[in-house]
Amino acid sequence: MDADVPAVEPFIPYGRQQIDEDDIQAVVDVLRSDWITTGPAVDAFEAAMVAFTGADHAVAVSSGTAALHSAMHALDLQPEDEVIVPAITFAATANCVLYMGARPVFADVDPNTLLIDPASVAERIGPRTRAVIAMDYAGQPCDYTALRAVTEQAGIALVADACHAIGGHYQGRAVGTLADITTFSFHPVKHITTGEGGMVLCHRAEIAERLRCFRNHGITTDHRQRAQAGAWYYEMQALGYNYRASDLQCALGHSQLRKLPGWITQRQHIAAVYQQALQSLPAVSPLVASAEVSHAYHLFVVKLPANQRQAVFDAMRRDGIGVNVHYQPVYQHPYYRDTLGFAQSQCPNAESVFEQILSLPMYPGLGDTDVLRVVSSLRQAMEDPG
Ligand SMILES: *Cc1c(COP(=O)(O)O)cnc(C)c1O
Repeated sequence: MDADVPAVEPFIPYGRQQIDEDDIQAVVDVLRSDWITTGPAVDAFEAAMVAFTGADHAVAVSSGTAALHSAMHALDLQPEDEVIVPAITFAATANCVLYMGARPVFADVDPNTLLIDPASVAERIGPRTRAVIAMDYAGQPCDYTALRAVTEQAGIALVADACHAIGGHYQGRAVGTLADITTFSFHPVKHITTGEGGMVLCHRAEIAERLRCFRNHGITTDHRQRAQAGAWYYEMQALGYNYRASDLQCALGHSQLRKLPGWITQRQHIAAVYQQALQSLPAVSPLVASAEVSHAYHLFVVKLPANQRQAVFDAMRRDGIGVNVHYQPVYQHPYYRDTLGFAQSQCPNAESVFEQILSLPMYPGLGDTDVLRVVSSLRQAMEDPG
């Protein structure tokens, strides 16, 4: 070994899944059973999600994006309709509106939390506005009291893209019950995973019916219901998709869900260790967490001077730290900017905060020493970006 080459410390990703033996066993049990899709594991996962959140209905689908698309279909969006979405989010939050032929309208975010600003939402409501999609950025539930007031006043729907916030609470109420419709993703970087997968939660039975029909081609009954009834007849009543989640996925998700509360506690601990360690770095400020929430910490995001962000990102990546940026304002992507012609200066907070943000690694299993290694790499990068 060359004595001049320093020992390479293992790469720390920004997020990663945790799969235990009981998760593996749950999937194997399904493989040995009669139903590997549209079977009892789907119902069991949905029932467990209802019990976990307190929502009235849960519909498992094939991804978080399918969950958002299904939510838009359930609201019966028409091509001339508008839906208000936050400027800073994953593109799928806005894309689901485009899938319906409708138009996303971007609202600005609060620069301290990056959550959609209810005042900006109110300014953008017009005669064609049908819904608002709030996104619980980084795992912090939005200001649902204010959003509720704005949407009720306007008589429009409130949808929560809670792909970051499963297991979080707002004023003591669980994420999944805070909006008319809530969506989750089970992609491996999210809190619990099914490989690919998602869920839609709602209160109204008619909405749940529309969701179930949409995920199965717009057909009113599924394969198992027909098998049980000994019938062949079915009707396609709407143009749906194949957005079903399999029993393999749902068994994995159900097994993961049992561990979610413990994982949220670990994420909150990691956040507390970051907060403490970052106090000695005044140029770096974590996003503000409201006293009214229990934060689910999908991400741990800090703000640093915009002129240092790229150098710090590069230096930390060289150090083996998987920092990331979540997210560029959606309308700045070439498809929105060039193909659809969205205006480029419409949300000043989003545009300036985007230049300052950096996501630090955050996942259960990230130890205190790892967190301190991240912070010392960040400190070094701030002082001497190399
Ligand atoms: C992950 C994510 C999605 C999309 O979920 P997929 O399961 O990857 O389709 C949508 N919105 C937000 C905010 C997300 O983080």
